[in-house]
Amino acid sequence: MHISDLPQEILSDILLKATKANEAEGESYTYGLTQAPLPLQKPKLSKYVRGPLTGESLRWDATNSIRQVSTQWHDWALGYNLEHVLERTWRGSERWAELTVRRRKYSIYELIDNPSGYAVYRDPYGSLKSTDRLFASLPSAAGHVRRLWFNGLYAAETDKLILSIIANCTKLQYLSVPWTILRRATAQDWVDLLNVGIAGRTPLHSLELNAVCLPRDQAAALESDTTINPLKDPRVDLSSLKRLKIFGNTLHKPVCDTDLKLMARTATNLECLDITNLSTITVAGMLALVKASRKTLQVLEHSPRSDDGFYHPHPGRLETGEHICEFLASLPQMRDLSISVPSMCADLFANHEVKWAGELQVRATDLCACATGSKPEKLQAILAALRDLIAAKRRIHHELSAQLFFAGCIFEPEKRLAHGDFALAELGSGGRWPRDAQSSTLGPYGQSGTYGKDEGLWDAVGEGEFLEAVGRGWIVL
Ligand SMILES: [Zn+2]
Repeated sequence: MHISDLPQEILSDILLKATKANEAEGESYTYGLTQAPLPLQKPKLSKYVRGPLTGESLRWDATNSIRQVSTQWHDWALGYNLEHVLERTWRGSERWAELTVRRRKYSIYELIDNPSGYAVYRDPYGSLKSTDRLFASLPSAAGHVRRLWFNGLYAAETDKLILSIIANCTKLQYLSVPWTILRRATAQDWVDLLNVGIAGRTPLHSLELNAVCLPRDQAAALESDTTINPLKDPRVDLSSLKRLKIFGNTLHKPVCDTDLKLMARTATNLECLDITNLSTITVAGMLALVKASRKTLQVLEHSPRSDDGFYHPHPGRLETGEHICEFLASLPQMRDLSISVPSMCADLFANHEVKWAGELQVRATDLCACATGSKPEKLQAILAALRDLIAAKRRIHHELSAQLFFAGCIFEPEKRLAHGDFALAELGSGGRWPRDAQSSTLGPYGQSGTYGKDEGLWDAVGEGEFLEAVGRGWIVL
């Protein structure tokens, strides 16, 4: 039997194993020179290993021999190489004229004792342009792409190239793009990007928008752009999207509540919504999307805390003054919940039918005005309700743990602990409180060290002792 008669999945498995072996044996680094020579100068240059090769280069090298065997194998190799395509910003202009671009010939380069060379100018968007050319001229290659990831490219020119690349990838499922795409693309670009209801094209499954603060010239260029928000166009249909992630803070035309409310008109089938590390989307924007996808949503993460850390969660306010605790507890498919809300109360934990699992996190600025009683009484009721919920889940062998972030402290109801910086309370009590404190592994940024900042030392005290200090006025909620 000839190897090409093997079933596709067995052949694919063999080729994958061969590729992995090639990858382990191939060149994995590239050279540079210690100093770029200036004109009319002859400095002594020496080689150094500049850094590891990118994953794409490693994968490409590993399928070199396979691509040359037959059309079938070539096709398999293209699928392997182009399934995930990463385009990142250009770093450094150095390329050494004497260093061959054929990495298999590096061993010859290594024999040269006195390397010479000069930096060759490289187009910063060269890689992006070649990708665009390749996909435009070879639709069969573009058809292999499942995931596209663009990083560090924020200019009008790169946005155009990115959109052109996306439009050629008919089977694209996962896309990660700079938020500038939302600002500079037209409605037609978005129709081509989402691929909903177009024969022969796969609708987009997952979309990530990443934002950063731009240098002044790029920011000015973006601010002066006058493209109309493509989301306003009724042809832009997000109903096929299962996952939406919005990440990162920016000052320049950031993704905001208005965008999310426009998205909510069609984003009715989201399973995962992740809004992290940005303060331009409030609870109102998040809620619009959650309501639109209430029947399908399984994972919700809304943590606007940015570098400011835990002390400025900025969840925003709901203008309507709407009470959302019950609504959040009623989402039928919800599994993973990590939210920042303006206020919370025991209603959030009253529904024992929820599918919540793993670690639940709720960051609240205040307590709801719905219930009667003093703040400490409300807090006590919340902690008790959450404990009941966790116990109910345990009875049916579902592991659920929880952290509540409130009043500058982190509460762990199942351990009946409150973590915080209690130095002022200790001072206020004249040293009588706390009677029984232990050092804490938590800090103002959640787990210690998350943001690499000096977090100071936190203590953990029992819930009862914490509430006692509140009652005596040593801690203010
Ligand atoms: Zn409430």
